[in-house]
Amino acid sequence: MSTQHSTDEERFQSLIDGLPRLTNPRGERLPLRGSRLEGELPPDDGRAREILAALDARGIGLCARVKPHDTRSLECAVRMGRLQQELDLPVGVHASEALYGFFNGAEHTLHVDSHGRSFSDSSFGSRRMGCPFRLESRKTEIQSQMRSIFEAYRNARIDVSFVYFDWEIDGPIEWNGAWASAKRCRVCTEHLPDLAQNFFGFQKRLRRIRSRLQRECAVDIISQYHPNALVGNYAVYPHAGIRYWYDYFETLPDGAPYIADQYARYRPWYEHEFDEAGYTFANPVIYTWYPTWSWYPGFEVDDYRWFYNMLLVASNAGASTPSEVPLVPWVHWHTTDAPDGMEAVPQMSECAYRELLAHTFLRGADSWMMWCPAGETLSELQLLQKAYDEAGAWPQYASRGTPVLFEVPREPGPVVSARRRGGTLLVRRTDFTDTTDAVRVRVDGRTLTVPRKDGEYQELPLGM
Ligand SMILES: [Zn+2]
Repeated sequence: MSTQHSTDEERFQSLIDGLPRLTNPRGERLPLRGSRLEGELPPDDGRAREILAALDARGIGLCARVKPHDTRSLECAVRMGRLQQELDLPVGVHASEALYGFFNGAEHTLHVDSHGRSFSDSSFGSRRMGCPFRLESRKTEIQSQMRSIFEAYRNARIDVSFVYFDWEIDGPIEWNGAWASAKRCRVCTEHLPDLAQNFFGFQKRLRRIRSRLQRECAVDIISQYHPNALVGNYAVYPHAGIRYWYDYFETLPDGAPYIADQYARYRPWYEHEFDEAGYTFANPVIYTWYPTWSWYPGFEVDDYRWFYNMLLVASNAGASTPSEVPLVPWVHWHTTDAPDGMEAVPQMSECAYRELLAHTFLRGADSWMMWCPAGETLSELQLLQKAYDEAGAWPQYASRGTPVLFEVPREPGPVVSARRRGGTLLVRRTDFTDTTDAVRVRVDGRTLTVPRKDGEYQELPLGM
């Protein structure tokens, strides 16, 4: 797909041409959304409505990407919202740019050394990351950016229903060189006297500040204008105090704690980040990050090296997210962020990815969001849409079924996930060996017997 030189309208049309209509209509489910599923609708309202409706029939919901201080982007966004509302479609907004940037390079946001000289932490790339304790003064400008967007929607009588952020490299972050920089900073060491010995204390304090900035500058403002909107940020989700993956820009500092699993180094993570930020949907990240395959040489099945890690992430979020909070993971199939010049690793198979998506659904996912480079858009969506449509055949389990199994086998073998509704369960069993034996698992003190059935959901009764 040659997206680089096509207009947004051509891009939308290529998705409509390349994807079938859902066989199980979307109904009340959250649509598929994502980084390539945004852009400008054509000027003719009739044609724009046709595109929105055709994408909805394929399970896709567009988001308007709004930029603060950009009148034209706001006009386009509000127009998309109006057309979505006229068609009774959910109004989606991608507002990342309204949250940038707390660290804007200004002197008064930087660390201060023992001689009173300011300095920034350059270990995160081009942004001048500064002092976590010197950000209060930045709130007014960010809040005003946020307000200008969501007030415009309200003034146009449009009810925004879904807002997502991809706010990453900005604000307090404890990874990379941040701990080392803080140890050199007079302000940081005044706030955290045991900083050098206590990584957890440093992490907790930074995550609390980070969460509060998001609540005060994004969630609280959006909810004033659009109290029913779901609001979430990339990589912020309930979890059990551990993170099984690294973002592309993150490295573990020397001396920081970790939990080893083969060559993987999982990180303890501040548990209350999601609650304190106030987000209303959970937004974990389940990607085929390039290093993942090399972490698990103990698994002889290539696909299980991917599947295992991704299922750990999905299960951690699924088991920790309350049933009333929608869970919408970011997903990506093609090997993610492979560095130039590095040896290629075996690509996760299409089949294993499709199985993974089914297990994320049974472990609590309500929908998915997709990130990918432009050239992968159609092939990624073809796989994702198929999984979305398959899950859509079971609306009674999606809306009222409770995920009951979160185990991640430590060896390749049968993997079982299930949502329970009364005495029956919707089950998926995926095998990574040749065994054909039935598997027995315990659910609420009763036995569930699961025969092998490749590539399909099974509806099974719970035994004694
Ligand atoms: Zn500092």
